[in-house]
Amino acid sequence: MSEICNLIIIGGGASGLAAAVTAISLGVEKIAVLERLPRTGKKILATGNGRCNLSHQNISAPDYQGSYDVTGILQEFGSAEAFFESLGLYCRTDEQGRIYPYSMSANAVLDALRLHCSGVPEFCNEQAVNLFRKNRIWHILTESGTEYLSRFVIVSTGGTVQPKFGTDGTAFRLLENLNIPVIQGRPILCPLLSDKNILRSLKGLRVKGSVSLYHKNQIIRTESGEIQFTEQALSGICIFNLSSYLKYQFSGCQISVNLFPELELPEVIARLYSCQAVRCGASCEDMLSGLMQKPLARTVLKQIRIRADMPCSQLSDLQIRHLAGICHDFRFPVLGTVKEQAQASAGGVSGKALDKQLQVKACPGLYVTGEAVDVHAPCGGYQLHWAWASGYTAGKAVAESLGI
Ligand SMILES: Cc1cc2nc3c(=O)[nH]c(=O)nc-3n(C[C@H](O)[C@H](O)[C@H](O)COP(=O)(O)OP(=O)(O)OC[C@H]3O[C@@H](n4cnc5c(N)ncnc54)[C@H](O)[C@@H]3O)c2cc1C
Repeated sequence: MSEICNLIIIGGGASGLAAAVTAISLGVEKIAVLERLPRTGKKILATGNGRCNLSHQNISAPDYQGSYDVTGILQEFGSAEAFFESLGLYCRTDEQGRIYPYSMSANAVLDALRLHCSGVPEFCNEQAVNLFRKNRIWHILTESGTEYLSRFVIVSTGGTVQPKFGTDGTAFRLLENLNIPVIQGRPILCPLLSDKNILRSLKGLRVKGSVSLYHKNQIIRTESGEIQFTEQALSGICIFNLSSYLKYQFSGCQISVNLFPELELPEVIARLYSCQAVRCGASCEDMLSGLMQKPLARTVLKQIRIRADMPCSQLSDLQIRHLAGICHDFRFPVLGTVKEQAQASAGGVSGKALDKQLQVKACPGLYVTGEAVDVHAPCGGYQLHWAWASGYTAGKAVAESLGI
């Protein structure tokens, strides 16, 4: 393509489309989107189980981790609801503060973005493989051998997980070749692998409680919610959120599951004594079934070497205390992450390399957005909120630089 564009956005995902919408709304002409997949926005359609949890009602800078300070961008962007309302899309908020499109369909979100940038050419099946600047013009080479030219470029190529949605981390090479510092990616918001021998008997269970991440017996973070047990991993939103706090080393990391987070340890002990008294003729397993599902009761008993069929009247004071202890603090070693199921990745372009509008300080006219920046957040709409906010900021910055 020999025509020089004003703006080329590499990556037609959440932040790339938000950047395109913003730039076009502000009057930027000659914009194009390059997308390596056959169509743009494929990941958006998969978000929130097809419903797209596009933001959260209580978003603030401390919700975000990473090396870039998001404060200014969040403030300037404001609410995602207002952003989407300006595109004709209305939202609703659930009891937990999560914001969805009113239709509860991710298609509506992608439609809102694409309808608004219908004049922007999308070059699909075009994977950018090289990027350089010559005579104040950015050159983008794609795998098909085409060269695209532009005054400004926004790199919105996502993170390092979910290759089926076009994001496998290879796009970071475009930036590394320009000597832009990139912090190594790691999967987050994903199940955590643990000991199969413990998990085997818990497989399929869903339990409400709290979970804490420990590293070498130091507590890193506690979350609460539904814990799901699979054959080889602990899962559920609370576990996904803990996964963000795991750095590269898993050794020495443990998950502590508290089955009774609303009770102090002495209260759990009292409750066990009360169950023992009321069900004095029952087995230990049956005594516990008033407090938890039977497979969990059997596993808990096995961990502290008490036979499930032993009459509960035979439980000693010490055994009751052990039982209460494990109910309050059931430890699972962390053996790794389930990368294939990760919703996002931590890492990306170092915040130190970027200015307040996400322009690469050393490369005038080059911006980075979304997961490609070293910023990450918990489940609940925070990731997408960052995608919209960062895309909006970069799109607006380009319009301002063009004097619009
Ligand atoms: C299953 C799933 C569910 C999720 N649910 C939620 C949710 O409900 N709420 C929430 O807040 N977050 C959710 N997320 C996370 C959220 O989708 C991402 O954080 C967000 O999409 C990141 O936006 P982005 O613009 O940085 O990248 P992406 O949306 O990943 O877009 C990047 C785009 O760049 C393209 N690309 C990559 N390399 C190149 C290249 N070299 N050349 C051209 N194109 C390229 C890719 O094909 C892709 O289309 C979910 C993620 C997954 C996987």
